[in-house]
Amino acid sequence: MSDRTTGDVEIAVIGRGLIGSAAARHLAETNRSVALIGPGEPADRTTSNGPFCSHPDEGRITRIAGRSEMWTTVAAQSIERYADIARRSGIEFHTPRGVLIGYPNGPEWQARAEVWGSDARIVERDWVREHTGIAISNGHPLLYEGAPAGYINPRRLVAAQTELARQANAFVVEAAVNRIERNSSGLFRLETSNGAVVARQLLVATGAFGSPLFEWKLKVERRARTTVMARLDDDQRIPSLLLDSPPDDRINEAYWVPPVRYPDGSVRIKIGGDLKATVLLDDADLVPWFRSDGDPVEIECLTNNLYALLPDAPLGDVVTAPCVITGTPSEMPYIGWVDDGVAVALGGNGSAAKSSDELGRIAASLFGESGWDSILSPGLFTPQLL
Ligand SMILES: Cc1cc2nc3c(=O)[nH]c(=O)nc-3n(C[C@H](O)[C@H](O)[C@H](O)COP(=O)(O)OP(=O)(O)OC[C@H]3O[C@@H](n4cnc5c(N)ncnc54)[C@H](O)[C@@H]3O)c2cc1C
Repeated sequence: MSDRTTGDVEIAVIGRGLIGSAAARHLAETNRSVALIGPGEPADRTTSNGPFCSHPDEGRITRIAGRSEMWTTVAAQSIERYADIARRSGIEFHTPRGVLIGYPNGPEWQARAEVWGSDARIVERDWVREHTGIAISNGHPLLYEGAPAGYINPRRLVAAQTELARQANAFVVEAAVNRIERNSSGLFRLETSNGAVVARQLLVATGAFGSPLFEWKLKVERRARTTVMARLDDDQRIPSLLLDSPPDDRINEAYWVPPVRYPDGSVRIKIGGDLKATVLLDDADLVPWFRSDGDPVEIECLTNNLYALLPDAPLGDVVTAPCVITGTPSEMPYIGWVDDGVAVALGGNGSAAKSSDELGRIAASLFGESGWDSILSPGLFTPQLL
């Protein structure tokens, strides 16, 4: 394999997912010489050897109201830039349909969100039933946040960020990095099936994958998750949902994205959750998991919840899919240096899609002359190694 000299860059971002594509855009738009390296989704996930991504979908919830100050801040800062990203890339990805949140400490979520201009307000159960068709019986305070809360299309957001990175002269390689070597001058040589790239510094944004490329190992959990997508026409009334202790409580929390159109033309509502008996995946388990159709127990539990929460909806046939959440002990993403010339930005903890632009911007700032640039403390994001 011959090196592509055009591939010699200051910074190589490994992983063209939600955080990596955002980081590469911010680096390129601040005139850094950057390569963004990562494959698209496998053409056939049932036979592919990966790597896979955690955004292989048409919908991810977006909202300002978050479960901590950190998550609220990065969401609000990202959402502020959605319109600019869509306008300049020509790729729309945001639908402001609102979100309903049912959590015991809902008023705390509301107070955090108000700081960032959210209209989140406590609503009555009867109001929810009448205006959305959702039947909730667990007694938690219910918080409704209107636009810009709703959902984003994560595939289109990656496409938009990649397009803007390209427009700002990033070198985009649509392939996985298979091997990394460091030469005597300290430069990294990254091998892909599309040629090699030589870089002075690396940003690793490989989500659940990528660990075998490096000797250092991060303290992360790869949590198996299943999603259920049921056919349902979009009646424009159903907002995004996040609900603690749902009716079938084999999951701690249920969430859904309102009906959206999938690539096969069907319109489906997608429900997911976090099974209490979560399966943790090792490197060797990841590919078999992504080739599967998910966990039968989780599928049954999610389907039960969908029927219980939308008792009047004409739900149709169901399809299922596997996904993986990369979790950290702090439930915050890792953004920081882990080795000489190597930084990471990963550990989305199931919440990073909506906030990926700000997480990518913070990661990009690590490579600037002044370093960390955020109102949030770097200590919140410090990567932990095994
Ligand atoms: C079922 C499910 C539902 C979710 N719902 C929501 C939601 O509603 N709202 C929300 O905000 N978040 C949600 N999330 C979380 C969100 O999708 C993730 O936090 C986000 O995708 C993480 O972004 P990332 O860039 O770290 O990883 P990814 O998006 O997975 O990107 C990592 C990329 O790295 C690439 N890669 C891996 N190895 C290599 C290699 N060797 N070389 C090159 N590239 C490589 C992969 O191909 C992939 O494209 C959900 C997650 C799951 C699993």
